[in-house]
Amino acid sequence: MIKKIKKPEVEWKKLLTPEQYAVMRQKGTERPFTCEIKKRNDSGVFHCAACHLPLFRAAAKFESGTGWPSFYEPIARANLIFEEDSSHGMARTEVLCAQCESHPVPR
Ligand SMILES: [Zn+2]
Repeated sequence: MIKKIKKPEVEWKKLLTPEQYAVMRQKGTERPFTCEIKKRNDSGVFHCAACHLPLFRAAAKFESGTGWPSFYEPIARANLIFEEDSSHGMARTEVLCAQCESHPVPR
């Protein structure tokens, strides 16, 4: 079980770039992975930009069914929260970091 990190929004704001903050904490409209994809190192592991929880690894082929790029594979399902969202008129699954409940913008 992942222990949640709770911080006031101002703290997250300090940790993140304005762009990251908008996407990760304010449900910015940008789709995941469209703006910032940075591998932290050559291991192919992507970390949450806010709390550094490892979230994905680059995988050759992975059919997640969540709308995420098929070449990313969760490190562990427990590290992610999958939330049904039908607020945009179509059912889609939102993926959140399990530790800080940010929209993960890996770096
Ligand atoms: Zn996080």
